[in-house]
Amino acid sequence: MSDNQAEKHPKLYIETYGCQMNIADSEVVVSVLKDKGYSVTEDINQADVILVNTCSIRENAEQRVWGRLDVFKQIKRKKPELTVGVIGCMAERLKEKLIEEEKTVDLVVGPDAYRELPKLLEEAGSGQKAINVILSKEETYADISPVRLDKNKVSAFVSIMRGCNNMCSYCIVPYVRGGERSRNPQSIIKEVDDLFQKGYKEVTLIGQNVDSYNWHNQSERVKFAQLLEMVAKISPKLRVRFSTSHPKDMSDDVLYTMAMYNNICNHIHLPAQSGSTAILEKMNRGYTREWYMDRINAIKRILPDCAISTDLMTGFPGETEVDHKDTLSLMEWVKYDFAFMFKYSERPNTYAARHLRDDIPDSVKTERLTEIIDLQNKISEESKKEDLGKTFEVLVEGVSKRSKEHLFGRTTQNKVVVFPRSNYKIGDYVTVEIIDCTSATLIGDLVSE
Ligand code: SAM
Ligand code: SF4
Repeated sequence: MSDNQAEKHPKLYIETYGCQMNIADSEVVVSVLKDKGYSVTEDINQADVILVNTCSIRENAEQRVWGRLDVFKQIKRKKPELTVGVIGCMAERLKEKLIEEEKTVDLVVGPDAYRELPKLLEEAGSGQKAINVILSKEETYADISPVRLDKNKVSAFVSIMRGCNNMCSYCIVPYVRGGERSRNPQSIIKEVDDLFQKGYKEVTLIGQNVDSYNWHNQSERVKFAQLLEMVAKISPKLRVRFSTSHPKDMSDDVLYTMAMYNNICNHIHLPAQSGSTAILEKMNRGYTREWYMDRINAIKRILPDCAISTDLMTGFPGETEVDHKDTLSLMEWVKYDFAFMFKYSERPNTYAARHLRDDIPDSVKTERLTEIIDLQNKISEESKKEDLGKTFEVLVEGVSKRSKEHLFGRTTQNKVVVFPRSNYKIGDYVTVEIIDCTSATLIGDLVSE
């Protein structure tokens, strides 16, 4: 960006790929740059700076970004003064290789260096390539108020920790996001309180493993169950969600706290990855099938109405038909309300890439993936049918895409319900009775006008 552009409030266009952490990070990035006079545009052709916040979790996530860089190259041909930056996990993984392989890229910034963006953009604007991929042991961006990029102004992600110490053998996260750090609880409470004052009705506390949240100074220690309670106490009218829980760390304390506060939503995302103890061991997940089942039993005992969702992976190195059947039988046993399902994708430099041969043919991975998706669809459909005739409180998130006369929102279990609009608006709590369902959605009728 030239001095000239800097003077007239340069326009930033930002695109975000990957998980909720990246969405929250983009909001931090916008905050940092707005403070230095940047404005945000949703029109890529108006942009002086394009930033793409990237994901490295699977190879196809990176392929999508390479595709976008091709598109940015076309735009830059017509507008050579445009600055293109790659930020986030892919920036951290590939470092200067990104600039070497794609000349369009002027700037490469890892997830712990966003405070440096204004300075780095200035360098890039003066014609140098700019790069900062230093990972930090302390950075949590605690003092930065994220600029919310969501459209509905009802629900927001609040990052409570960064990084991960778990070293699951397939996973790139510890390499690209560094070690685990917990954010100061007072800064979290302040951020959530501000959101509530601004009219937000739901927050999701996010981290790679929220159960190991553990902030302390010399005199005080706050663990996840306490933090959850502190956030829930802000207002009974504020819904509180969290993600992701880790089976090896999910404690009964958290479940009892959920049971005590109506506004902590009845939904737990508890990634299993596999139903086979042998595979879980190779994955270095730190639990067995039996341990996982014990955690599910604890949820069902303490929170009988709690929805449970998961992440599952097919085709991990050495996965046999028997291991795969163990995953299918675990799914049948838990009866997940929802699942994210993936084919194993080998990630460079992870333990699995270095020590375990990616020996399951792609056709077998796909076959197994199709089988678990089909089973999950059947289970999800059954779980929706069980909701017929039940009454739920729904937080309205928007107008239905199919009909302006209908709104949609979520139940505490995170299930989407479509219902007649009447005089309700986005952000209202509405009581609905479930009268029908499609494969993805519950259909409701208003109970109280
Ligand atoms: N920290 C969370 C946990 O441990 O459950 C999830 C983090 S990761 C961003 C989200 C999901 O991506 C994982 O639960 C896993 O199912 C999937 N995943 C991670 N690495 C993968 C890989 N190499 N290939 C395929 N899927 C992967
Ligand atoms: Fe990756 Fe495992 Fe950490 Fe989740 S817990 S981010 S899967 S290393």
